[in-house]
Amino acid sequence: MKILTSRAGLAKAIKGLKQKNKTIGFVPTMGALHKGHLSLIKIAGELTDVVVVSIFVNPTQFNNPSDLNKYPRPIEKDIELLKASRCEILFLPEISEMYSQNETWNLDLGYLESILEGKFRPGHYQGVTQIVKKLIDVADPDYVFLGQKDFQQVMVLEHMVKALQLPAELVMCPIVREDDGLALSSRNIHLSPEERQKALLLSDSLFEVQKHFDAETIPQLKSKALKILSSEKNVTVEYFEICDAKTLLPVESKESGSIIALVAAKVGSTRLIDNIILK
Ligand code: AMP
Repeated sequence: MKILTSRAGLAKAIKGLKQKNKTIGFVPTMGALHKGHLSLIKIAGELTDVVVVSIFVNPTQFNNPSDLNKYPRPIEKDIELLKASRCEILFLPEISEMYSQNETWNLDLGYLESILEGKFRPGHYQGVTQIVKKLIDVADPDYVFLGQKDFQQVMVLEHMVKALQLPAELVMCPIVREDDGLALSSRNIHLSPEERQKALLLSDSLFEVQKHFDAETIPQLKSKALKILSSEKNVTVEYFEICDAKTLLPVESKESGSIIALVAAKVGSTRLIDNIILK
């Protein structure tokens, strides 16, 4: 596995691969790799010739400075995991390689920016689109592999790819969970053993809604989920919504062709998200 730290170095490597007609699969990450990330790399390896992974804790997408400061950065362990995976190139830039001073960015994301994650993390999707645009520009991938875990992020990036006519296709990959249902996340490391137990309320609420989806109305399902989520003191719900999976707008009935339930909650001071496709 090659480790490249400069944009020019990555662009050169990609150019060489493209001259050999290799297809490029790109997996952008912020590191602290777990089986969720590794599943994206595996899928990328099955669908493309060369897998490029980036690890970059992108400061512009953090609306909370303490979340950025305490974001885990176990880089040696990450490199070992990547060496044992299908990753051929790790792109590991410094902040100064990706950003100049006082850079600005503004992409019109419409209402997607002010609902759900956008509402609770102002500016987050501007930061996400800003960095992913830069990364796609240098990695020049045929396919970008993204997790359903961040469903709204996939929608926002689809919007960007269309709006800017980027020549890459996005592939959404399933959520990897622990055996008890907890969605894997780099932030789970911050949970104490008791919080780890309480964090199960997120996936529990989603599974409960899935189980009763056919039999109950949307308001009934929502109140069931909220009841579960509010059953522990240390868990603060930010949102639980049942939405049209094409628009992410809340639904009142089950008429939409595809429906998703999404949840965000703080367990202690750790903010977690999860979702499940219901239809
Ligand atoms: P992150 O490092 O958290 O920015 O995540 C990098 C990529 O991995 C994103 O596309 C995430 O959606 C994806 N991802 C994170 N957690 C999971 C998971 N549990 N299962 C599948 N993909 C995930």
